[in-house]
Amino acid sequence: MIKKERHVLVIFPHPDDEAFGVSGTISSYRDMGVPVTYACLTLGEMGRNLGNPPFANRETLPQIRKEELKNACKAMGLDDLRMMGFRDKTIEFEDDEKMVKVVADLIEETNPSLVISFYPGLAVHPDHDATARAVVRAIRRMPEMERPALYTLAFANNTVEVLGEPDVIHDVTAKADKKVATLNAHASQTVWMMKEMEKKLEELDPDALKWLNYERFYTYRWDQDFE
Ligand SMILES: [Zn+2]
Repeated sequence: MIKKERHVLVIFPHPDDEAFGVSGTISSYRDMGVPVTYACLTLGEMGRNLGNPPFANRETLPQIRKEELKNACKAMGLDDLRMMGFRDKTIEFEDDEKMVKVVADLIEETNPSLVISFYPGLAVHPDHDATARAVVRAIRRMPEMERPALYTLAFANNTVEVLGEPDVIHDVTAKADKKVATLNAHASQTVWMMKEMEKKLEELDPDALKWLNYERFYTYRWDQDFE
């Protein structure tokens, strides 16, 4: 059961961050008529995958990933995509206050009842963690009564040790096709992984099916501090 929201704001640093663990959820909200804004901070222009043989170079990759991102949003039925224009692999070096302001401005403008991002310190990549820190800081500064809920993705090896099991599980079985379409839209990054995955899904591999059909979040608890 997915709770109805007033407005959902999704904030991630890289195109395709939304595809793996949230695209079924985004598609569900859109089909429920809930407005969703996706703020993608960079164009993933440092993505390592340039193809073999290469289909892109450092100059053309951002353009390719921009088109892929737009197509991914189409697949999810998302029509409010914000490309925030930061450079890939630099979020961790940006001024903290600047990043907090970017998030605070998005919240002020869209007035979300729910924000979705990563969990700080448990999201494996420095850009992911830096994005998560900015999101947590921006919301923490709001008066308690006005704060949106914050659902986070965490997948570091020690996640269960630190946070236990996720408290929000969305059954997105009905959106599986849209999720696969979203992942395929990011072909430059996902084509090999999706080949593997589609084989596993055909074989009804239980882990692959669980990954496809269920999206798992940790509600951020404001009495826990990440620092
Ligand atoms: Zn990422």
